[in-house]
Amino acid sequence: MIAASCKICNNIKNNYILKVREMYFGTREEFEYMECSNCGCLQLINSPKDYSVHYPKNYFTFNQKHENKIKSLLNRFRDKAAMGENSLLGTILLKKYGSPVYVDRMKNAGISLKDSILDVGCGRGILLHKMKESGFENVIGIDPFIDKTIEYKNGLKILKKDFYEMDGLYDLIMFNHSFEHMENPVEVMKKSNELLKLNKTLLIRIPVADSYAFKHYRNNWSSLDAPRHLYLHTKNSIKILAEQSGFEVKKINYDSRSWQLWGSEQYSKNISLLDERSYYTNPQKSIFTKNQIDQFEKKTIELNKNGEGDQAEFYLQKISEVTSA
Ligand SMILES: [Zn+2]
Repeated sequence: MIAASCKICNNIKNNYILKVREMYFGTREEFEYMECSNCGCLQLINSPKDYSVHYPKNYFTFNQKHENKIKSLLNRFRDKAAMGENSLLGTILLKKYGSPVYVDRMKNAGISLKDSILDVGCGRGILLHKMKESGFENVIGIDPFIDKTIEYKNGLKILKKDFYEMDGLYDLIMFNHSFEHMENPVEVMKKSNELLKLNKTLLIRIPVADSYAFKHYRNNWSSLDAPRHLYLHTKNSIKILAEQSGFEVKKINYDSRSWQLWGSEQYSKNISLLDERSYYTNPQKSIFTKNQIDQFEKKTIELNKNGEGDQAEFYLQKISEVTSA
């Protein structure tokens, strides 16, 4: 089927139209995505005019919670030890529980506790709050969809602000599952370039379409999340974006979850994520046996290892200056 040109690589040949239903809340409203035959990127063709309808208060980002006080205190010691600031308690906890994933990401990005970090589309800033508590001194978040600017007791600020209004220079900019919700990925990357110091890292965590889950489930792939995800990228499309905006892909790490399998299985059987038979809302009433869930977990580990998981972390290094529009 012939469609419009790809917004990433401009390819116009053999692009395919995929009809995808809204299955998170289960409205089953249908949306059209274009699948580029060249770079593989999926892109929503007609964005809804009023997006607020598609982000009701029970969408998961609005319901994330801070850890309780004791857990937060213990994690503070553990996380500091993981970053190299040792204490007896920290070292014991680190040995027992291992390094938290976000610290591994900071290490991959070459970040120290003093470096300046910007988190774009961070919601209420649950991760940043934890980071600030654990000794990351210079962190800030922005999200245009929060009710108002938040100022935590520990000094952390989450600004209600548009990304394009930001200035300053950072050692790390991160998009933790927000990039796929934003229009004009090239412009977002160029703005990131402008806000980053040379040779520093842009970390983009997104769902990816060159994955087993998309190839296998197609329009029932759970991470498509129509119409909230505007772009579902691939290794290829991210590489093309990087070349257009002064970046180089340095490292890709797969961190997909088993939801790619059980979620997609459910969507294939017309069970939405919030349905009462969904494994998400009600594991006891779900269509899966314990054994099946174990298999999904096992397969997910394998997919991540083989680079076929449906979620990835892209570490992009700024290698040259570009100016955004
Ligand atoms: Zn393309």
